[in-house]
Amino acid sequence: MTIPFDARINLTPEDIPKRWYNLAADLPGLKPPLNPGTGEVAKPEDFEPIFCKEIIRQEGSTERYIDIPEEVRDNLIYLNRPAPLQRAYRLEKYLKTPAKIYFKREDMSPLGSHKGNTAIAQAYYNAEAGIHTLTTETGAGQWGTALAMVSNLYDIKTTVFMVKGSYLAKPLRKTIINTYGATIYASPSEHTEFGKKILKEHPETTGSLGIAISEACEMAANDKNICYSLGSVLNHVMLHQTVIGIETMQQMEIGEIEPDYVVACTGGGSNFAGLTFPMLGEKIRGKGFKDTQFVAVEPRAAPSLTKGEFKYDYGDTAGFTPLLMMYTLGSEFIPSSIHAGGLRYHGMSPLVSAAYDTGLITARSYDQTQTFEAGITMARTEGIIPAPESCHALKGAIDLALECKEKNEEKTIVFCLSGHGLLDLYGYEQYLDGTLPSSEI
Ligand SMILES: *Cc1c(COP(=O)(O)O)cnc(C)c1O
Repeated sequence: MTIPFDARINLTPEDIPKRWYNLAADLPGLKPPLNPGTGEVAKPEDFEPIFCKEIIRQEGSTERYIDIPEEVRDNLIYLNRPAPLQRAYRLEKYLKTPAKIYFKREDMSPLGSHKGNTAIAQAYYNAEAGIHTLTTETGAGQWGTALAMVSNLYDIKTTVFMVKGSYLAKPLRKTIINTYGATIYASPSEHTEFGKKILKEHPETTGSLGIAISEACEMAANDKNICYSLGSVLNHVMLHQTVIGIETMQQMEIGEIEPDYVVACTGGGSNFAGLTFPMLGEKIRGKGFKDTQFVAVEPRAAPSLTKGEFKYDYGDTAGFTPLLMMYTLGSEFIPSSIHAGGLRYHGMSPLVSAAYDTGLITARSYDQTQTFEAGITMARTEGIIPAPESCHALKGAIDLALECKEKNEEKTIVFCLSGHGLLDLYGYEQYLDGTLPSSEI
């Protein structure tokens, strides 16, 4: 048997993109962030207590391309970039679909997810600016893991506030973060004023991402040598993730792949943005992807695009962050505790939100029982156990492939496998036991 040429399309390290693509250059009518105190348009200085200058510059930039520093490109190699674009022949065969299914393998990073792509860039710029410590929050643990590891590359320390519920449920994440040399606290913690306040009012709380963000921001704001680092939502994070889509476009050219559907899961929006923004840019500029549909897949437990409202809202619970124009379920909203912790966020990236509002992209949502079923199908056909978050994108892709089967259409689907699920096996165990709860709100 000969191996089909598109079974796995690889690039070489020289093909790692040299510049990031910025959708803000091509998307008109974006609404700027507002200062939470005054309600006025936020000025770059407003961000200085928590972010370094280059990050602030990128956050507000409308340049179409921003060069990737050599030091960042060099380190992307060790996250196993460029990531292969693989064809799911065995999944297609199992589904008996005429559709072609390709997936981008962000699961091959040693950190287990796509989050390292921005972690490397953020740690680099902060180290350049002389910052000695980065603070951050983590829900499921992937972002804390990524930042903890990459801070070693640039000799910077990391302090992670992990949502207490996850901290208790996933003790091995703490071990990983400690192994990488970072400090981790269960949030709410005694290490910030906001944490102490919450603990006093709600001693039994299991915390939330919004509370953990407030704690990490407070610690950064109180020391000029400490900055805060966010793993999703903001424009600079979307920018850094575009290496995913730029590589995928090179691979699609090699494989002569013209996608009808491009699919990714959305928590704060970064892996979706990473895969789709470079293609959306071409679509807006009339250079391609004319008939391609871009599909965001979210959990029923936190359906910000499909059920939220497009308005200014805070990124955190305390109201420390600037107000962002985004699809949101409200900054007080605490999603029920699903296994896809990376998708449990009340808001959505302002850039992804604006793309949705203008009709450039579509969205759908699934219950976690449906997504784990998809994950098990992937495991038994392709041999890969996807992260619970990635199972949402996979479920979207499988449903589209089944629609193609019904209509007997040979369409092409590309989805992002944003991470592997080897550290999230409890959800799979519950699914197999028949004890996995539904995640409807
Ligand atoms: C964090 C995470 C997500 C969700 O975050 P986005 O910013 O929406 O990409 C999805 N998949 C994995 C594996 C994650 O770790």
